[in-house]
Amino acid sequence: MIDAAGRTIDYLRVSVTDRCNLRCVYCMPAQGVEPVPYGELLTLEEIAQVCAAAARLGVTKVKLTGGEPLVRKGCARLVGMLKAIPGIREVTMTTNGILLPRELPGLVEAGLDAVNISLDTLDPAHFEALTRFPLEGNVREAIDAALAAGLRVKVNTVGIEEYNGGDLAELAALARDRQLDVRFIELMPIGLGKTLTPIPGEEVRRRLEERFGPMEPYKGRRGNGPAVYYSVPGFVGKVGFISAVSHEFCQSCNRVRLTSTGFLKLCLHYNDGISLRDLIRRGAGEEELAETIRRAILHKPLHHAFGESCAAPNLEARTMSQIGG
Ligand code: SAM
Ligand code: SF4
Repeated sequence: MIDAAGRTIDYLRVSVTDRCNLRCVYCMPAQGVEPVPYGELLTLEEIAQVCAAAARLGVTKVKLTGGEPLVRKGCARLVGMLKAIPGIREVTMTTNGILLPRELPGLVEAGLDAVNISLDTLDPAHFEALTRFPLEGNVREAIDAALAAGLRVKVNTVGIEEYNGGDLAELAALARDRQLDVRFIELMPIGLGKTLTPIPGEEVRRRLEERFGPMEPYKGRRGNGPAVYYSVPGFVGKVGFISAVSHEFCQSCNRVRLTSTGFLKLCLHYNDGISLRDLIRRGAGEEELAETIRRAILHKPLHHAFGESCAAPNLEARTMSQIGG
């Protein structure tokens, strides 16, 4: 559908859980966050109901996220349910990769189209400092397993001066001899992200060019999101930049989010939206659900206020794992 600002909304990011098996410093406190009681989470069937209603409005792509989506049982079953919805062309997942090798066969069989694997450093000590778990090797293994399973793979890296400022070239080099893209995402001032030092995309590019030589802007189409891609001399895959803070791309935003508790969230930076769970549990049908989503999307905020010292009462105060990153 088209929102009030003329943007086509065809992409829904669905958080299936607020729980996680890592504790990344910019996303979750060391002790974790109070988990949502199970009864407040949407069931897989309820998630599918929302996706079916969204598909009626023109949503064609769904990404499963969290928390860590794979800590929730039944992800593969959910992928299968979503792939069966008329109009949904692509179902993908964003994961930290820890449980991916184990879950891959089921996910691939269910029709998962692609996977984004989050990995911020290849240095085991830095990985442990950043995620609070010594599991860097598991993520590397997951990347190669996903490629071997025939999935499209993107590696997503958040540049944070305190933790991985010196590791970015090594990460980019994953795309040297693998058919995958490595994307550098600017740390957003959301939740614990506010307390750390982001490395702007331009600065990441400078560091990569210092190591690999000049990168060429890639003109071909790659994905449907806001990433800008470059070819690097001698690399099989591409390197991408998602610079939401330094280069706002809200005018072309194509997405809304569904939290694990069934709240339709219109923009990452604000808590505006509507609870669909109450509606579903009152017995609303797909048509009523679709109409509610349509009306809500008309109020999608025009842009974020990351760069501003904004004190709007509707600014998002929760952690990324709770919102669904
Ligand atoms: N657990 C999964 C994972 O890590 O891929 C999915 C959820 S996680 C919240 C989704 C993505 O959000 C990860 O790539 C993570 O690095 C990113 N993220 C979390 N907090 C962020 C922040 N403040 N700014 C930018 N990206 C952030
Ligand atoms: Fe977990 Fe992903 Fe947040 Fe890290 S970024 S704590 S893996 S939800």
